Amino acid sequence: MHQFQSVTFASPNPGKKLIVLGAVHGSEKCGTVAIRRVLAEFESGALSLTRGTVTFVPITNPKAYAQNTRNGDRNLNRRLRPEASPKEFEDHVANWLCPLLKAHDVLLDLHSFQAEGQAFATLGPENNQGVLEPFQWAREEMALIQRLGVSRAVDGWLSTYAVGVERRRATRPSEIESSDLDPQYGVGTTEYMRSQGGYAITLECGQHSDPVAPEVGYRAIHNALAHLQLIDAPDPTPNTKMEGLRLHQVIDKAHVDDTFAKAWKSFDPLSKGELIGTRKSGEQLFAQADGWIVFPNAVAAAGNEWFYLATSNPRFN
Ligand SMILES: [Zn+2]
Repeated sequence: MHQFQSVTFASPNPGKKLIVLGAVHGSEKCGTVAIRRVLAEFESGALSLTRGTVTFVPITNPKAYAQNTRNGDRNLNRRLRPEASPKEFEDHVANWLCPLLKAHDVLLDLHSFQAEGQAFATLGPENNQGVLEPFQWAREEMALIQRLGVSRAVDGWLSTYAVGVERRRATRPSEIESSDLDPQYGVGTTEYMRSQGGYAITLECGQHSDPVAPEVGYRAIHNALAHLQLIDAPDPTPNTKMEGLRLHQVIDKAHVDDTFAKAWKSFDPLSKGELIGTRKSGEQLFAQADGWIVFPNAVAAAGNEWFYLATSNPRFN
């Protein structure tokens, strides 16, 4: 049996309510290490909360964490919402986690990734009153992402996903019902947080086994605490020269034998007209514009996300 743990420190003085998550994906342990280090500092008195509230969840998905796998029964970071009749383990996590997120103002979600590469962070949309992801905290989110100690930022996740889901719906028989055809499929912790009136950053701290990744997470927690004025420390200097990317397209594999033109790594640059891959059908996929390939997955199953395309992000220019 698994149990959930959160640790909350609250100051008598009013202030922001921050929540920090580790191991939403069970094999991504840098956040857990970073959180436990900061917890120890609060417990020893080396750090003290002077305003507001901070909650730490060292292990958000304990089943996946115990297995050292990304998921327990499914990806917690897709279609995240309370489930009236929980079946999979992640439904139980959601029923515990969603109210906890809702009780806070700001989320910092610490992850790591499989491939080699530098740390990066993702943020939500610009302020808007649309249907998919209405939002009003873009300025605050930008101020936070610029202070986390990383130099690459990505937005456009949910809108890109919604377009991809639409395309899947159009190419599959309508009688098939599947969770990856749900327009809410792209909703993870940060999207749920925004849907509940808060704002949120996902920080990808580095490669899973990179010894620097827990340090990146630790520094980001400190910087967030200082920036939100929860501890008495100077506001970190914002990085106003971050490299900004905007996801705009997700491409599914059509057949397991669809192949890449080369062994792409995430954030490899693409030039307009460059060959990205060839489908089993013979169709060649070319870059339609200069940009980057993001999260390429050479071993994706047919019908699943194969790669994403990003362009330069006007918010960071
Ligand atoms: Zn992750």
